[in-house]
Amino acid sequence: MGHPAASAPDSQEILRSAMVVGAQRLSALGLNRGSSGNIGVRLAQSFLVTPSGIPAEELMPQMMVEMDFSGTVLGSGKPSSEWRFHRDILAARADIGAVVHTHSRYATSLACLQRDIPAFHYMIAAAGGDTIRCTPYALFGTQELSDLALQALSGRKACLLGNHGMIALGADLKAALALTLEVESLAQHYWTALQLGEPNILSKQQMQTVMEKFETYGQGKG
Ligand SMILES: [Zn+2]
Repeated sequence: MGHPAASAPDSQEILRSAMVVGAQRLSALGLNRGSSGNIGVRLAQSFLVTPSGIPAEELMPQMMVEMDFSGTVLGSGKPSSEWRFHRDILAARADIGAVVHTHSRYATSLACLQRDIPAFHYMIAAAGGDTIRCTPYALFGTQELSDLALQALSGRKACLLGNHGMIALGADLKAALALTLEVESLAQHYWTALQLGEPNILSKQQMQTVMEKFETYGQGKG
């Protein structure tokens, strides 16, 4: 396809459709139910976020809500109540083009323990470090929650939100969705391993080696 810039006239339509497909895929995979969870995608000078309170199956591309970075809705629609962390992450992280938030079962279960996911498996490095941090609890939709999320995402591409869910980031929506699936899978493996005992945790050096290999060969190959 090769559109040169995100501001090309039809690229926003492609992104809107991709957001609908992504939200419906998360729902079909059981990572979100009903209207929980949301997606944000960067545009040239603004961003798109999924609307408030509409189940994934009923989403349509024109329902995606465009907002500027002051938090003003451009056009029409009611944005997800979590628009603040989408805005703040996209504003703070030039490396990030898309934000996915879910209440998926295993990530949320660990988030309810307010437990970081340690380096129990080498793929933790896919989230950018040797842990996936969990924030303390803060009320949904608040600036406090957004601030805590940004802290937990420092140097990372995913975090758990205490007593709430998870956030995964990517350079684009495809990457953010892939990391969402990876984090939920890791949370499931960690949860399962904890049933049998305390998992062995890889050392900082072992994880450093994994991260170097990811940088050289691309993430997730093997
Ligand atoms: Zn939520």
